[in-house]
Amino acid sequence: MTTVTDSLRAAIRTIPDYPKPGILFRDITTLLGNPQAYRRAIDELVHPYAGTKIDKIAGIEARGFILGGAMAHQLSAGFIPIRKKGKLPHETVRIAYSLEYGLDEMEMHKDAVQPGEKVILVDDLIATGGTAEGATKLLRQMGADIVAACFVIDLPDLGGRKKLEALGVTVRTLIEYEGH
Ligand code: AMP
Repeated sequence: MTTVTDSLRAAIRTIPDYPKPGILFRDITTLLGNPQAYRRAIDELVHPYAGTKIDKIAGIEARGFILGGAMAHQLSAGFIPIRKKGKLPHETVRIAYSLEYGLDEMEMHKDAVQPGEKVILVDDLIATGGTAEGATKLLRQMGADIVAACFVIDLPDLGGRKKLEALGVTVRTLIEYEGH
């Protein structure tokens, strides 16, 4: 029998040496373009929180927006965009973070979350965890109560899940790939 994990894994495309040599890029555009796989991924991500009061989903630009928007709809929650610096028009809070391949800064609007609000953080993939750690710190700085951080893909060898768990964040992932 095909498991949910098998069907999601089959819908993800792997591109070797992108964006630079040695990286196996896990491309979810094929999953997003597959109606059954997209729905299944969203259903699996929200499943544990059905019936729970979640105030907002915070999605990390850009693939976290596509997953997070659908999750917010499913959970009747609001949506918070966490964006690369300079993209948001109102007052922001900003944090620098390290990536598997580089350094960058991310921002969210100061008024995007109210103290005590229950928030689920989402992105397509967790690698070193630098991106999600930055987003966690931003959200907490504004008083968010992070219920969980969700990812379709985990690269456990890069240690991101452990990094978030060490910050006291519950991590939910659907598929693992060895290596990076
Ligand atoms: P990190 O901060 O190292 O956990 O990297 C996670 C972010 O980089 C996510 O937004 C991912 O979309 C992207 N990313 C990192 N590694 C990969 C990979 N091997 N394939 C696809 N996306 C990746």
